[in-house]
Amino acid sequence: GEPLLVASDVRKSYRAGRGTGSARVHAVDGVDLTVAAGETLGVVGESGCGKSTLARMLVGLERPDTGSVRFAGSDLATTRGGRRRELRRAVQMVFQDPLTSLNPRLPVLDLIAEPLDVHRLVRGTAARRDRVAELLHLVGLAPDMMHRFPHEFSGGQRQRIGIARALATEPRVVVCDEPVSALDVSVQAQVVNLLAELQRRLGLALVFIAHDLGVVRHVSHRVAVMYLGRIAEVGSATAVYGQPAHPYTRALLGSVPVRHPSQRGRQRVTLVGDPPSPVAPPPGCRFHTRCPIAQEICRTTEPPTVTGAGGSLAACHFPAG
Ligand code: SF4
Ligand code: MG
Repeated sequence: GEPLLVASDVRKSYRAGRGTGSARVHAVDGVDLTVAAGETLGVVGESGCGKSTLARMLVGLERPDTGSVRFAGSDLATTRGGRRRELRRAVQMVFQDPLTSLNPRLPVLDLIAEPLDVHRLVRGTAARRDRVAELLHLVGLAPDMMHRFPHEFSGGQRQRIGIARALATEPRVVVCDEPVSALDVSVQAQVVNLLAELQRRLGLALVFIAHDLGVVRHVSHRVAVMYLGRIAEVGSATAVYGQPAHPYTRALLGSVPVRHPSQRGRQRVTLVGDPPSPVAPPPGCRFHTRCPIAQEICRTTEPPTVTGAGGSLAACHFPAG
């Protein structure tokens, strides 16, 4: 059947500055993506590539300008009534630092219970407390921590609390927007492993957003690589890491040599400079300003999406393999 979550040609732009004359940032500029039940999809790209905007659309926190995001067939932006509440429960988000947006004067008990209250999932204070204790246990925290306040926790603990809060409604999909980027390297693996374990135990579909392919390598079934508001390459983790087709993926992976279409032999792809501004993405292939194998056609003509040797889909005129 259809995948659980389906983004179809989603676009979202917003004003770059104040005033009516200001330019528009094309944060997400035509993305198709699917998430199957019970899989982990890694989404990777540099800062400013549109990952967070995409994440917010995937959970229904932002409405696409055009295109749609559907959960089990229902459009997140337009569905109303009881079905809308079901969608809100079913698709949850974990933020980079999930506690900063929450009231610092509330104890963890109330922070985690808030979604339970909103969706009326428990009756009575004892049941509420028991459910919060259960959720804390699920993320590896002691139940008595529910009486403490956000500032009393380490970064790793705060992220566990954010995960517990996201799991409170028993979602089918959890979108994690750079859940470990703000954490010490020593703590990152613990949180990544926790998410992977929860994904398996609860049969969750997990969308794991990161700026680095290394972070999601061991937990992703599939990986999507974003560049300037588009998907450059998407495929199984085996394909994307083992036989990457897109020069950008190859550059992110660092040491993978690619064949230059106009040269004999091989050369390494290295990324030079910053990505161009999403206010005015380059014409043709938007990676052409940094691509070491760009040809004339890349500057003028948008590349088609083609299947690489490893089975991934890549938007490139000269995919590897
Ligand atoms: Fe590089 Fe051209 Fe492929 Fe774009 S289409 S990634 S510029 S080779
Ligand atoms: Mg971001």
